[in-house]
Amino acid sequence: MAVLVLVEHAGGRADDVSQQAATLARGYAQAAGEPLQAVLFGPDAGAAAQSMGTLGATAAYVVVHERLTAYAPQAWGRAIAELVETHAPSAVIAPGSERATEAMAHAAAFADLPLAANCVDAVPGDAAAVTRLRWGGSLLEQARVHGRTKLLTAAPHAVEAAAASAPSETVVTEFTPELEDADLVVQVVERAQTDAGGGVSLADARVVVSAGRGAGSAEGFAPVEALAAALGGAVGCSRAVTIAGWRPHTDQVGQTGTKIAPEIYIPCGISGATQHMAGCKGAKRILAINTDPEAPIVANADYAVIGDLHEVLPAITAEIEKARAG
Ligand SMILES: Cc1cc2nc3c(=O)[nH]c(=O)nc-3n(C[C@H](O)[C@H](O)[C@H](O)COP(=O)(O)OP(=O)(O)OC[C@H]3O[C@@H](n4cnc5c(N)ncnc54)[C@H](O)[C@@H]3O)c2cc1C
Repeated sequence: MAVLVLVEHAGGRADDVSQQAATLARGYAQAAGEPLQAVLFGPDAGAAAQSMGTLGATAAYVVVHERLTAYAPQAWGRAIAELVETHAPSAVIAPGSERATEAMAHAAAFADLPLAANCVDAVPGDAAAVTRLRWGGSLLEQARVHGRTKLLTAAPHAVEAAAASAPSETVVTEFTPELEDADLVVQVVERAQTDAGGGVSLADARVVVSAGRGAGSAEGFAPVEALAAALGGAVGCSRAVTIAGWRPHTDQVGQTGTKIAPEIYIPCGISGATQHMAGCKGAKRILAINTDPEAPIVANADYAVIGDLHEVLPAITAEIEKARAG
């Protein structure tokens, strides 16, 4: 038996959340005394598969099918379920990205197995013992997962990614699933580039400056954009802002938005509702700017400035520019 890890990748390497999932999966495989194997999809999967040894995978399955040219959740799920059927891994562990979670839900339905999402820890056994994030990260649940193959996703930014202490030799094999027309009804047909954050993606940004209802209007984001630009960061927002139509949903941080893990997160005029905090738990440091010292975000922050964001942000940006000029 083996433990399979689903790896999403870009530029020939596993992306951050897949490296975190692989770290969880490697620990699970070691505890089970089984090898770790990877499964990859997409046109560049062959190249990325060559680097799976750094994650500790001794084998990598590259899923190829003439009709599978882009992300197609049901087709991915079908392929994973077929791997479960033919290779009988003891577990399949995937990153908790939206795409992988959707694919794993299809795989679980095809394989008629339970799926435990958002795990932060997993210990193998007849029934695997998992700890997982519930209620937008406000609750840790301990649960037992049954079934011949345990299907799990790793909560994003909850496990620190680490390379294998000794890289493995990886045997790369192509795997062609038997897909049905229905598996390809939903698939990516086009990609559009957003212009937010000057090309810095919210999910990957090392600095995120966000604003909420306290910004007051779409125009109220000007000082937020200026500080983000000065710091080379991305702009985010709360759901109050996307509901008001001030910013697109792609900028929303939170349970129903993007999960971020920057070095520093600067939420301005955001109260810090549970659903917002669920998206920024992975931030290493939080600097809150708010007029209300009693706002929950202040209690959750490492640093806080109590003041009007329209005064505080231009002052910070001016200081940064002054320091750079000097
Ligand atoms: C199922 C569900 C999913 C949700 N998902 C998300 C999600 O993904 N992301 C999300 O953000 N929310 C989400 N929400 C909504 C969430 O519960 C809150 O309603 C929302 O986060 C509030 O946004 P806010 O903090 O901008 O606004 P408010 O709660 O109104 O807070 C505004 C804050 O701005 C401060 N302020 C006002 N003026 C200024 C000023 N001039 N300068 C500085 N501070 C000022 C105030 O003191 C206050 O703290 C979800 C809710 C539900 C029910």
